[in-house]
Amino acid sequence: MAIHLHINDLPPGLAFGDSVAIDSEAMGLKPHRDRLCLVQMSRGDGDCHMVHFPPPGDYSAPNLKAILGDPSLLKMFHFARFDVAILEHYLGVTCKPVYCTKIASKLARTYTDRHGLKDLCRSLIKVNISKEQQTSDWGAKELTQDQLYYAASDVLYLEELKKKLDALLKRENRLEIAKACFKFLPTRAKLDLYGWIEQDIFEHS
Ligand code: MN
Repeated sequence: MAIHLHINDLPPGLAFGDSVAIDSEAMGLKPHRDRLCLVQMSRGDGDCHMVHFPPPGDYSAPNLKAILGDPSLLKMFHFARFDVAILEHYLGVTCKPVYCTKIASKLARTYTDRHGLKDLCRSLIKVNISKEQQTSDWGAKELTQDQLYYAASDVLYLEELKKKLDALLKRENRLEIAKACFKFLPTRAKLDLYGWIEQDIFEHS
């Protein structure tokens, strides 16, 4: 695995082909409160490109924004709802089209309620990833080697997971509903940013 660490933006001319796995790290889980610190990207070839936003955070990042907003590039996430919302909030760009391994797992693997990335890696591709650095200080001016390796492991396996999950979705006849959910995801993320986080507006009350 090679980690390419970039500060504030991707270098110009970087191409990811048809699809890219993306994850982000932030100071917490509330986009309005918690600063976006790192965006990790991998095209599934073992390489990981990361954009670090050291404090206070310069989010102009034209090259990263162009990649995220590219309508011909499929963006794969695990729990896209959070990443799409925080990327929209800080970078002002709507990620689409998107794929979410967590939603795919919930729709296809109804025999379990374990849909975390660690669970998916273990059950579907027999890979053990560590979640030890998840709660570390992502706001630091310089990130540690352990943080960078942890951050990379969050994107390195998404492509492989997608293949397994797509086969399960197909087998269970849930590909179409999954696609419809992925299409709606940027809107779901926007509802979070607008304040409808807990409340389900499709509910009667
Ligand atoms: Mn992560």
